[in-house]
Amino acid sequence: MQEALRRFRDPDLARPLLERVRHLAGRAAERLGRPPAFMEVCGTHTVAISRAGLRAALRGLVDLKSGPGCPVCVTDPAEIDAMIALARLPGVTVTTFGDMMRVPGSRGSLEEERARGADVRVVYSPADAVELAAACPERQVVFLGVGFETTAPAVALSALEAARRRLANFSVLTAHKLYPPALEALLADPEVELDGFLLPGHATTILGRRRLAFLAERYGVPAVIAGFEPVDILGALHELLAQVVAGEARVVNAYPRLVREEGNPRALAVMEAVFEPVAAAWRGLGTIPDSGLAFRPAWRELDAAARFRVEVPPSRPHPGCRCGDLMKGKAAPFDCRLFARACRPERPLGPCMVSSEGACAAYYKYERAC
Ligand code: SF4
Repeated sequence: MQEALRRFRDPDLARPLLERVRHLAGRAAERLGRPPAFMEVCGTHTVAISRAGLRAALRGLVDLKSGPGCPVCVTDPAEIDAMIALARLPGVTVTTFGDMMRVPGSRGSLEEERARGADVRVVYSPADAVELAAACPERQVVFLGVGFETTAPAVALSALEAARRRLANFSVLTAHKLYPPALEALLADPEVELDGFLLPGHATTILGRRRLAFLAERYGVPAVIAGFEPVDILGALHELLAQVVAGEARVVNAYPRLVREEGNPRALAVMEAVFEPVAAAWRGLGTIPDSGLAFRPAWRELDAAARFRVEVPPSRPHPGCRCGDLMKGKAAPFDCRLFARACRPERPLGPCMVSSEGACAAYYKYERAC
């Protein structure tokens, strides 16, 4: 506990809160007959929890699981293979956020394709990809649309901008994911035992609290929308534990400085104008109805999947990699026999070790004993 407190900006403020959390965790364990299990579904929370030492400070009292919160990690292996296949096409420039570059597909990564001569470029926003398409009319510029509700509106806006400028050489390969259906899939899985969710502040800024209320109303599961400071997370855990102890279930917005009841209507409107929900494949979770985004028919000429129709053989993730189990909260990075041995940040075997928001990378950096 002392070690965790040293990592807080204001340890004197955090100490009584941490003590209250530990006390409540004991009472919740008495009620449940085991330590309560909560899942964070946001890579930024995963990193913040590891960096603050909260998992260690609550070990044995609260089981803090990392779920499907890292955008790169939830991307299905077949989607990654399709991205790599696109990069191999002549005349195509693939643009992507940096995190995607080193993610291993079945037969290499985008970084390796670039080393072999493919035109793969890191951009900081989809708007950069639109500008690249305008500057290079002789190239087909494809943006890889990866991420949750946080990034999808910006991608939709860029697609609209490309259409407005009549850029026939711009398209998007969409692998976007919507996170609430993934939570439903987890709750429907009898092998997954969860007593509450720590909900992501970023994605829920777009969605709003109301769209998450179903967790309590339909499934009787407490959930708290939390910010990213350690004290925000502790406060959210306190709320979750208080609900477990009281036998209640509510979806509480503990991040009101950014998240509103109705979310961000303008971002939702642009996302819903361009994309429609479709079934999507998630690493570890399988195919989940209405959990992905595809272009609506009116915008289908911007769809790289329809424009290029790449065929990829069945994907082959590394056989020992347990990223899929991590997404379900069925394993922790330490449970993977490759962790910190064959799989390390400088030579990752799975996306959870590549991404700065991946659980394996966070555990490697902050939670390894040596
Ligand atoms: Fe996959 Fe590496 Fe994590 Fe193991 S340590 S689950 S191989 S990313």
